[in-house]
Amino acid sequence: IKLKITNIDIPVAFASAFEGEIIRRGDMQIEFDGSRVDCFELVQTKELSEVEDHKIEVIGPKIDDFEVGSKQSIAYIVEVAGKNMQSDFEPVFERKFHSYINCIEGVMHTGQRDMIRVRISKDAHAAGFELEHIGEVLYAKIKNEFDAVVDKCQVKIYTNPEDCTKLRHELAIPAFDKRDARLLTLTDESVDVYYSCILCQAFSPSHVCVVTPERLGLCGAVSWLDAKATNELDPAGPCQVITKEKCIDERIGEYEDVNEAVRKFSQGALEDVSLYSIMEKPMTSCGCFECICGIEPFSNGVIIANREYSGMTPLGMTFPELASMTGGGVQTPGFMGHGKHFIASKKFMKAEGGIERIVWMPKELKETVAERLNATAKELYGIDNFTDMVGDETIAEDPETLVAFLTEKNHPALSMDPMM
Ligand code: SF4
Ligand code: ZN
Repeated sequence: IKLKITNIDIPVAFASAFEGEIIRRGDMQIEFDGSRVDCFELVQTKELSEVEDHKIEVIGPKIDDFEVGSKQSIAYIVEVAGKNMQSDFEPVFERKFHSYINCIEGVMHTGQRDMIRVRISKDAHAAGFELEHIGEVLYAKIKNEFDAVVDKCQVKIYTNPEDCTKLRHELAIPAFDKRDARLLTLTDESVDVYYSCILCQAFSPSHVCVVTPERLGLCGAVSWLDAKATNELDPAGPCQVITKEKCIDERIGEYEDVNEAVRKFSQGALEDVSLYSIMEKPMTSCGCFECICGIEPFSNGVIIANREYSGMTPLGMTFPELASMTGGGVQTPGFMGHGKHFIASKKFMKAEGGIERIVWMPKELKETVAERLNATAKELYGIDNFTDMVGDETIAEDPETLVAFLTEKNHPALSMDPMM
């Protein structure tokens, strides 16, 4: 018999009302900042004999040992064991940490993996909040929400900078790399099924993401492996199996089974979608896309803007302006929301010629995706350093300057067929 844990034993409140709470610099007792020092959060699957249920350890200095307002290292590892546990579930649990920790009154969490930031307020610490309470919350929530697969759970919290550095390099990064590598070897052709995700229907009622190995959900947080794990953890939940046996049009990636699924999960609002086209039956967008890709008619290409980008694009629209015409769960040919990871995919608007169509991206985004995007361009078209041909805001914010730059670089989009 498994008991649901309803009461979390911590000295401050725990409720979703605190999720949006901001802790300002002056109000913070301590900050753990993965962008400055070594930090990470990790779930690891262990044998049942290796886990002592509800053991929570803080290894290293406590909050009071650190200077008030200082930036420190932290690493917390949640070790789980259970007969039905699979390592593919680890990232699904990890992604929940953000919401779990944010629900603590006086604690703020951002990021994931080794780019986390955790702030604890002076008020929370004055009320008795210590680091082991983070462990209590993670323990209680994991045991509660994932009781179908987690029989035992223990938490280790490290605060010595040397431990955090060593464990980050020896344990966490190899674990994250292994997960990424696993996904990289999967292609849309190599799997038998795709998955739907309808998590966003709460605010975008007709929106359905079709998640494939080479096309992750547009929020960037749901890969095919994540969707598969979500489905196995909760068979009646947001991710359902979609078969792909009846291909209608290989060029745009249209399947009868996918259309049927989309019709069903959108309650009839959507008729048909393609997986690989932005012009013909493109997938819908809710509101939480990491990026928006939009047609740029003067160059026969597309521009991409990411959410973090606050400037102007050569389309004469900012990201929020593009977002207002792309979201809402309707199909808008020529505009599409997508995840950052999709940019380097061989399936990125394959129907229109693929990544060769990309003519502009904000500089920071371009730098983030450069390595993978250049590798794809080399493999598909034999182009070296493709991103050198792609404009950014330091080169052009209007179509004329952009086209002049693309002409000088002999960008392939200029000689491709018009997109419309
Ligand atoms: Fe699911 Fe992400 Fe798509 Fe929302 S945007 S439906 S969370 S995959
Ligand atoms: Zn969404």
